[in-house]
Amino acid sequence: MDDCIFCKIINNEIPNTTIYEDDDIKAFFDISQVTPGHTLIVPKKHVKNIFEYDEDLAQRVFKKVPMIARAIKESNPDIIGMNICLNNGEIAYQSVMHSHIHLVPRYSDKDGFSMKWADNTGVASDEQMQERADAIKKNLEG
Ligand code: AMP
Ligand code: ZN
Repeated sequence: MDDCIFCKIINNEIPNTTIYEDDDIKAFFDISQVTPGHTLIVPKKHVKNIFEYDEDLAQRVFKKVPMIARAIKESNPDIIGMNICLNNGEIAYQSVMHSHIHLVPRYSDKDGFSMKWADNTGVASDEQMQERADAIKKNLEG
């Protein structure tokens, strides 16, 4: 992918602060450092989003997340938690179309990171919930 910024980082064609890499992934600091240590894990294979991973790629990428998360946490005693986000599609706040997993170390409830979740408990009927579940289940692979 010639014009992909993360492919360029993987090839060291543009500056990056890398903390880990192997044949399958590269983990480097997000330039925005939402909180100190904010890291992106990217597959070296250019896949756009979660919908393009096959099982083999998923295994090779996601199995490394806990190891890298622990290393970040152990690097600073002030880190008391971590949000791990994978945005898929513009509507889900994906701005770089090469899949990447955000690891955002958390220091306090005022450290610059926040998430807003709606609570729709009880809004859908039991039947509607079952219909939703059935629609998903019939598309499961494997
Ligand atoms: P997302 O919005 O989930 O697609 O996240 C893309 C992330 O890539 C943003 O948090 C950016 O700060 C980050 N980013 C963009 N360009 C670079 C770069 N050259 N080096 C490191 N991170 C970058
Ligand atoms: Zn790419």
